Amino acid sequence: MSASFCTSCQMDEDASTLKSCSGCSTVRYCSKECQSEHWKIHKLMCRQLKPDEVWGIKLLCKRELAALPPSPEPDIARRIKHILLKKNHAVFTKGDLCPATQAYGFPLLIFSDGVHLGRQGKGSENQPAVYLRIEPEDGFAPPNWQMLDPDDCIVVRRDCKPLTREAMEACYAFHAMLMSDVYGYPEEHGWPPGKEHITRAAFPLFYRKYYRDQHELGRKQFKPVYRPL
Ligand SMILES: [Zn+2]
Ligand SMILES: [Zn+2]
Repeated sequence: MSASFCTSCQMDEDASTLKSCSGCSTVRYCSKECQSEHWKIHKLMCRQLKPDEVWGIKLLCKRELAALPPSPEPDIARRIKHILLKKNHAVFTKGDLCPATQAYGFPLLIFSDGVHLGRQGKGSENQPAVYLRIEPEDGFAPPNWQMLDPDDCIVVRRDCKPLTREAMEACYAFHAMLMSDVYGYPEEHGWPPGKEHITRAAFPLFYRKYYRDQHELGRKQFKPVYRPL
């Protein structure tokens, strides 16, 4: 990793003063305090990956969400699970590039058994997955994503870096905001076309605010994703 900022507080640091996590060496911290504060989140992903392994996200469908035990976490967070994948997983060959994420500089691939393999028997609604798949031009997902219930989906970063739950949630929240506040309004309300909001500048602004909002809601463990790249 060449980036020189603390994974926990995200402050810029001289690379030489940051200490790597000895468990995985993929994250770096400015202090012991930052490391221990981040541990609750990081422990889920702290392991030495083999060269063919990638941290992705399993995005649970509505049926799986309904089967989970009660929790104070918001539903969107409960739907986002870490999953360790091999680089030969179908998401890398058959998955769709989410075009909006590509446009704002955080390209994600998404794969659904229902959409990509035609396994529709157990199909269940997965609105977060459909939102991730929207086209920047008009905010619509392709017909197969809307017509076939995608059931659970696998999401990875195209660059194969670890996809964190916080980054996944912020991406979904950005798309949900676009769907309600941008694509949902006719032009006379003064919004420019949706694709003008999907930029490398807009997304970081959005997720800074999203992070602050989550802290105000009492989600102290929700970590900033200022610098997902
Ligand atoms: Zn720090
Ligand atoms: Zn670690």
